[in-house]
Amino acid sequence: MSEDNDALSTPVMRQYLEIKVLHPDAILFFRMGDFYEMFLEDAKEAALILDITLTKRQNQIPMAGIPYHATESYIARLINAGKKVVVCEQIKSDDPKAKIMQREVVRIITPGTVVEENLLGSYQNNYLSLVLCDKKYVYIAFADVSTAELIYFYLPESDSDRIKDTIQRFSPKEVLYSPESEKYLGPATQDKKLTLTPVRPDFLPDAKTKGIDTVVHVLDAYLKYNYRRHDFKFKSPRLIDESEFLGLDERTIEHLELVENENQKNHTLFGVLNRCVTPQGKRHLKQRILFPSSNPEMIRSHWDKIQILTSFKKERTKLLSLLDEVIDIERVLSRFRGGKASPRDFRGIQKSITSYTQIKTILDEIGFSFSSLHTNLQELNLKFDTRLSEGELPVFLGNSPFLKSGYSKEYDHAILAKEKGKDWILELEEKEKKASGISSLKIRYNKILGYFIEISRGQAKDAPSHFVKKQTLVTGERFTSPELEEMERAILAADEIIEKIEKEEFEYLISACLENFSDFLSLASEIASLDYHISLTICKEEYQWICPEIREDGVIQLVESRHPVVEAFLPMGERFVPNSLDLNPREDAIAILTGPNMAGKSTFMRQVAINQILFQMGSFVPAKFASLPIVDRIFTRIGSGDNLTTGESTFYVEMKETAYILNHYTEKSLILFDEVGRGTSTYDGLSLAWAILEFMGKDFPRAKTIFATHYHELTELEKGNGIFNLYLDTFEKEGEILFLKKVKKGKSKQSFGIYVAKLAGIPSQVTARARELLTGLESKKKEIKIKQEEPSLFGNLVDPELLSKTKSPTEIRILKKLEEIDINKIPPIEALQILEELNRWSKEKE
Ligand code: ATP
Repeated sequence: MSEDNDALSTPVMRQYLEIKVLHPDAILFFRMGDFYEMFLEDAKEAALILDITLTKRQNQIPMAGIPYHATESYIARLINAGKKVVVCEQIKSDDPKAKIMQREVVRIITPGTVVEENLLGSYQNNYLSLVLCDKKYVYIAFADVSTAELIYFYLPESDSDRIKDTIQRFSPKEVLYSPESEKYLGPATQDKKLTLTPVRPDFLPDAKTKGIDTVVHVLDAYLKYNYRRHDFKFKSPRLIDESEFLGLDERTIEHLELVENENQKNHTLFGVLNRCVTPQGKRHLKQRILFPSSNPEMIRSHWDKIQILTSFKKERTKLLSLLDEVIDIERVLSRFRGGKASPRDFRGIQKSITSYTQIKTILDEIGFSFSSLHTNLQELNLKFDTRLSEGELPVFLGNSPFLKSGYSKEYDHAILAKEKGKDWILELEEKEKKASGISSLKIRYNKILGYFIEISRGQAKDAPSHFVKKQTLVTGERFTSPELEEMERAILAADEIIEKIEKEEFEYLISACLENFSDFLSLASEIASLDYHISLTICKEEYQWICPEIREDGVIQLVESRHPVVEAFLPMGERFVPNSLDLNPREDAIAILTGPNMAGKSTFMRQVAINQILFQMGSFVPAKFASLPIVDRIFTRIGSGDNLTTGESTFYVEMKETAYILNHYTEKSLILFDEVGRGTSTYDGLSLAWAILEFMGKDFPRAKTIFATHYHELTELEKGNGIFNLYLDTFEKEGEILFLKKVKKGKSKQSFGIYVAKLAGIPSQVTARARELLTGLESKKKEIKIKQEEPSLFGNLVDPELLSKTKSPTEIRILKKLEEIDINKIPPIEALQILEELNRWSKEKE
């Protein structure tokens, strides 16, 4: 046997290995005295993530430890790194002969099942996803254990793109999957720091259970397994019909910077809209941004609410301060279920219920529809009122009074006894000191002896006869007396009574709250929705947004619209230049947008999409006038980036995203293409862009599209097929260029790339040389262009007379080709190549 094996075969290590074998995919926290120890690979991995010292047990086994009282931040770091943590505690053994401490797993903490406040972001849902499948369908459920939300999708097995999109859109922290459904995860979870957990066979129900019941069963089983004791309950599962929402894929959410911005955290649509004062309001806002509605009635009802809140400004201020009193009820109740409650939480719940009643009164007065408080919750609040102490409630039981005086005589008496106990002891000490004349006499307390009378060695012989010796020390003697014993009994009894009554009441109130779980969830969702509407109203007023109109004919009409995020964060003194747009699926639906770098093309395109999202969220929009249709999806192909983890090049990613759009858009979609075809050679890219536009132009009705490009050749496409040109205007004077940020009909003259390069600090030798090269290239292009613009050139060449004069095979080939093609329909690049060939040929002929 090797030395290592020796070290591993000690009783403790054997016990460790027995437990570890059951949790190969998690870091095992193995309690040993005041530490949680980790061993072997776990120790190495945790030491790296947590930056703690890696040592060796018995000089052989890798080991790392953390003190038991400081686990929170360590667990948080492991969970944030996508790890699971298994907590194994020492258990008091009933077997007196047991050689080692018994140990037992008490909790498995995973990223998707946490309820602890410090492990959750308060603005976002913490989703655990479950993916199951049968032969035809894939079920994708999203459960937020911290708020009890449970929603699910039911998608055809063949639609792998939608399956992928759905999983990504919710950004789950953990995905639980059955072995058969693993194949659907691949692309959706590949480049994510995501915890993947296979469903254990014992989590699955019997074969009779079908559909969503299976989902609920597996989730329950997994939570029971992780929490060991507690029983979670979700709201009734809600099937999501995707047609209820505006479709946004993960890339679009990213490109439009709806909720995240890599560089500037707050510069997002969420950042601008978020005036919510409650955590549930913030989460609701985030969900509404990611899932705008497709239901016109719903959208109108949001506008009505904003209108009311606009009219009652004074009431709105009052409502905000009442909302401020409402706590994160969903999460507090989930913590209750997870066995993590604090007495102080009851005060939060009590205040929330009271605020809700006051909010309801105000909203009734202003005609804003809001559900009444459920009578159960009114009754629950009475229970709080009669029981809870009026002062500040303790964080943990036993620190300060939890119950109100007058609620329980026994409790009041015990509290009094405890408080008075100290005085009684002091009085007794004084009395005994006086009676005996012993100046060193003191009454003291320690955990082992309890209360005792201490007299110094020199005076101990004078102790009165009713003192009974308890302990002899070098420095003196310790006694007790019948009177002291009685007082001690009373004080200890008081502690016991207090502890017992507080525990009973605490648990009673927890179960009373949990019994009303679903009523609390409705309360929380009403609060969230009110908070949301107030936020939208504040933005509307602050930025002067207007109420849009809903259109039935698919036309997008925006007059003087703005980008709400760019506008909100413009530097002091700068003004956002508003821009207008008309896209009509039956007429001009596809805008080719040209303009120099920095002119504002990306901003314009994004602002159109964001106005559309705001509209479908039921918000007012930043424009002078907006008449918008319900669109089914917004697609974007913006920016480029390598996907190094999957080995995909920039251009490949660009084409993959473009392919995805071309394969999925409908006439009701809004599509934004930003410089498609840029990642390859000019001719390749231009031809691709050209062909894409032609492809989309052939539809009728057409998807509303904006195609921003630096390929000015594409503007030639503006001939029928619903394609038209827009450009961003500039003003040039004495070599300086002013970007006017104004969108106009027509095409841009130049790109000003070199000018922008100069602004960005490219050395002047480089920009000067670039200008020289550009002049050369442009004059060459002009020469060719003049020829292209002479239709007679082609006419002459296909002239039968000319044809009869030609003999060589090259000549015949070229002329045949010219016969076959319609010069107006081929991309100019190809036309240029043909012209060049013709040039060469005619020169040779001469
Ligand atoms: P490129 O072709 O280099 O990507 P672009 O044409 O897409 O450039 P944007 O990135 O949209 O240009 O805009 C450039 C800058 O101008 C941004 O900083 C933006 O904040 C500002 N800007 C854009 N549009 C407007 C506007 N309408 N009013 C005021 N500022 C604007």
